[in-house]
Amino acid sequence: MDKQTVRDFDPSGRRVFVRVDFNVPLEDGKVTDDTRIRAALPTIKYLLDRNAIVILASHLGRPKGKVVESMRLRPVAERLGQLLGRQVRVTGDAIGVGTTDALARMKPGQVILLENLRFHPEEEANDPEFAKTLASYADVYVNDAFGTAHRAHASTVGMAELLPAYAGFLMEREINALSSLIENPERPFAAVLGGAKVSDKVKVLENLVSKCDTFCVGGGMANTFLVAKGYTVGKSLLEQDRVEDAKRILADAEARGVTFVLPTDVVVAKEVTRGAEHKVVPASKVPNSWSIVDAGPATMRAFEEALQPARTVLWNGPLGVFEIPTFGDGTRAMARFLAGRAEEGVTTVVGGGDSVAALDQLGLAEKMTHVSTGGGASLEFLEGITLPGVAVLRDRDQATEAGA
Ligand code: ADP
Ligand code: MG
Repeated sequence: MDKQTVRDFDPSGRRVFVRVDFNVPLEDGKVTDDTRIRAALPTIKYLLDRNAIVILASHLGRPKGKVVESMRLRPVAERLGQLLGRQVRVTGDAIGVGTTDALARMKPGQVILLENLRFHPEEEANDPEFAKTLASYADVYVNDAFGTAHRAHASTVGMAELLPAYAGFLMEREINALSSLIENPERPFAAVLGGAKVSDKVKVLENLVSKCDTFCVGGGMANTFLVAKGYTVGKSLLEQDRVEDAKRILADAEARGVTFVLPTDVVVAKEVTRGAEHKVVPASKVPNSWSIVDAGPATMRAFEEALQPARTVLWNGPLGVFEIPTFGDGTRAMARFLAGRAEEGVTTVVGGGDSVAALDQLGLAEKMTHVSTGGGASLEFLEGITLPGVAVLRDRDQATEAGA
């Protein structure tokens, strides 16, 4: 990676501000999924073991610049405390006199969590004064919140410009995994794209078509491609205004000699609801009043055949309406297939909130080479955009002494 990391400065005795992504689901004041807290542990432990004063900060939910009691970070601090085996204090506010006092009393080897950054509208506005206040708390800045690196906020960009800024271990892992896909994947390199809409991912499609050898497209977005090829899709999810984009992408793939696989058969349902009548039909014969809800068995065989030679596979987006288990066969088959390929030494990278949720349901996340924690951020990375929260971190060839 061309960015400096926590390994590139001596944290001992220094005040280190760590931007983490503790945007976790809460229910009745308890954390229901602590994956993101666990993901930040390596960086936090590394710094504490080396006697840093660790100041953690995160957002949670969308409080829109106001204090929302149900979005306080206390349950997160409790869970983090359990994982670290020590008490973790949370301040009453991200800034203010109480916070300044609490921070002034901290000793090396101690950790504190600032209250939800987004209780202040200045956070998302990247307000310079707010950024300056946050920066005044620390000597060094570390970003371990890959999931928010595509946003230029006070805690991801503004304050990072004011301090020596480094990548945490999670950030490093994400950048390494995703950039090796874009820069030098082991070939053949295949992408499997699904999910709801072409519009969400048109730039990802465009960028990947220029990098991949093989492309499999399923999910709702495949419908727009089927229409681009002259098929009709009944009542299926369709973005008529993206048909031209789909045509252009198909033409580009053809010109580049990319193998582009679309569904040949699909599961259609009378309604996109649990228990609705459904059947498998050829993709060219979708009945007028039915909706495509999943990839058919012949499609899955074609996808697997096309992916078989790949040494690197990127998967983003479910292949059907997997939230309804009856329409999740394609998504589950892909998850199992990729887990098997990973066991054969193929590099398998999965990104996207819903795709990762599908993997988790099957307990297959651990099998993959890399599962990205950042939904929007990983998509923007795959579009080929330099994320502002990454750009601001110290380059590898910059002087290494922090504060220099
Ligand atoms: P990710 O979060 O992995 O990037 P998306 O958010 O793009 O994925 O898409 C996930 C959504 O796509 C799911 O809610 C799923 O129900 C929906 N989806 C998949 N296939 C279809 C389809 N054929 N018709 C409608 N929605 C679909
Ligand atoms: Mg999603």
